[in-house]
Amino acid sequence: MADGLVRVKPSPLLDTFGRQISYLRMSVTDRCDLRCTYCMAEKMTFLPKRDLLTVEEMDRVATTFIERGVRKVRITGGEPLVRKDIGDLFRRISRHLGSGLDELTLTTNGTMLSDKAQMLVDCGVNRVNVSLDALEPDQFKKITRRGDLDKVLRGIDAALDAGLKIKINTVALKHDNADTLPAMIEWAHSKGMGLTLIEVMPLGDTGEDRIDQYIPLPMVQDKLEQEWTLTPLNETLKNAGPSRYVRVEETGGKLGFITPLTNNFCAGCNRVRVTCTGRIYMCLGQDDHIDLRSALRESDAPEAALSAAIDQALFRKPEKHDFAIKRRGETPALPRHMSMTGG
Ligand code: SAM
Ligand code: SF4
Repeated sequence: MADGLVRVKPSPLLDTFGRQISYLRMSVTDRCDLRCTYCMAEKMTFLPKRDLLTVEEMDRVATTFIERGVRKVRITGGEPLVRKDIGDLFRRISRHLGSGLDELTLTTNGTMLSDKAQMLVDCGVNRVNVSLDALEPDQFKKITRRGDLDKVLRGIDAALDAGLKIKINTVALKHDNADTLPAMIEWAHSKGMGLTLIEVMPLGDTGEDRIDQYIPLPMVQDKLEQEWTLTPLNETLKNAGPSRYVRVEETGGKLGFITPLTNNFCAGCNRVRVTCTGRIYMCLGQDDHIDLRSALRESDAPEAALSAAIDQALFRKPEKHDFAIKRRGETPALPRHMSMTGG
């Protein structure tokens, strides 16, 4: 070493079940321009801005994780693109691409993609997930309680034109979109986009009964198989993430299933989540968390405090979640909305 110091390689992020953490999801805001019925309540009280990590603090958190072996960072929310300094965050984290970081990506509702697609491409983002649950304007407005479908469709086209690959995420809803899922899959595949179906999870009080929303995906798959041939893809086996993929032979496109309720997906979990206030949640389905913001703001040696807090979090990462939706009127499994933790 030129400066004569011996540097110790940071230890990798291994939990007590031997799972290596290589994937960080960072929620950058709890705010959103939509109010999806399965995600938020109609009237939400959002956090004061001072409680949110600054872009510099988020960069520091991401950098620490990347130095310790995280290879993929997904920016999420709330709606990440409503944050005014979001471009600055992408620019900062993008400096790690090719030196530690393999992928920087985003989950968005797509309403602001028309304006932001080029910025994302300029920051080395190759693909994004866009959440979309309907292709008919009134149905979209009902599910999002306010959204303008056209704006999202224009955003998707702008992103495709800018060269981004898109995967559509669709929450399957018993009454609001179950019948229109085949049409959505055909539409996505016709535009060269994959689509992943997600089971609704009991996170946060949204003013809706989960029993009226939840439809088990094996039931949806059975119905699709009456019309289509679904061939399991090998990558399902190597993919450590929670999705199971098939190819729809009739459309030639890829279809994913995320089934946290009918099929616990935790054995291969390789991720942790950091909220916009700097809490690290070791599991989407558990409430245990560790506060990184105090490590950042109150310690004299923030880097070391951050790393120690991350070690503590790994030690406490649970084996699995225990979601269930069983009875009408049941209170949510966790009071925290998905928009807090980041999907
Ligand atoms: N606003 C962005 C968006 O909608 O893509 C990013 C944040 S959103 C919380 C991330 C993902 O979580 C979306 O795909 C959304 O559909 C999903 N989601 C939100 N609440 C959910 C719930 N209760 N169960 C299952 N998925 C949920
Ligand atoms: Fe907003 Fe995304 Fe939640 Fe819908 S799912 S309310 S777009 S954060």
